[in-house]
Amino acid sequence: MKLKIAIQKSGRLHDDSIKLLKECGIDINNGVNKLKTEASNFPLEVFFLRDDDIPQYIEDGVADIGIVGENVVLEKKKQVNIVEKLGFGKCRLSMAVPKSFEYNGVQDLQNTRIATSYPVIVDEFLKRHNVTAEIHEISGSVEIAPGIGLADAICDLVSSGSTLFMNGLKEVETVLKSEAVLAAYHHLQPEQSKLLDKLLFRIQAVKKAKN
Ligand code: ATP
Ligand code: ZN
Repeated sequence: MKLKIAIQKSGRLHDDSIKLLKECGIDINNGVNKLKTEASNFPLEVFFLRDDDIPQYIEDGVADIGIVGENVVLEKKKQVNIVEKLGFGKCRLSMAVPKSFEYNGVQDLQNTRIATSYPVIVDEFLKRHNVTAEIHEISGSVEIAPGIGLADAICDLVSSGSTLFMNGLKEVETVLKSEAVLAAYHHLQPEQSKLLDKLLFRIQAVKKAKN
């Protein structure tokens, strides 16, 4: 019996996810282009996936657990348990507008066109603030949308803000603060739960040692 964990195949969370497992004393050989691998000293099978697909795999129980940004868990609206925040992949989902936009508050987004890769989260944010706007879902390079006349505002992930600045945008609202989380399937078998507890115990020890 093995615990199946899904982690990002490549991208911002990949290295830190592998590093966390290593710090937990788990040896995995992550050959490039591999879809899955096994740990040599822990009953763990590792799947390498696109981060967007991870919540679905966990909801379906194809993976028992996974490491993914909380932003992705919320956007995908999948039924998963968030069991631990992991302290890396920190970012925020922010509204940004062109520097020349005289922005005084959320109400200024009324009747605008907002480009984003996070339509679900943006829609909830707008509803919460009683603002009606047109959401344009685009999958990448969201920050260029205002410059090419596609949108009046954007909602995108930000860590330093330099990408926004380089595109003549200013950050005006924080919609969500996010970091990588450990998510788990809702109906784990007792054996899988035990393995998860064992892993979680090690993760918490690693986190404690860093504080
Ligand atoms: P994939 O190919 O797996 O779909 P991706 O391009 O969607 O990758 P990445 O850019 O690698 O995703 O980001 C993965 C996660 O890293 C984000 O969902 C977010 O939780 C986190 N993250 C941390 N900082 C940033 C940032 N500055 N910009 C984007 N994502 C960030
Ligand atoms: Zn992605």
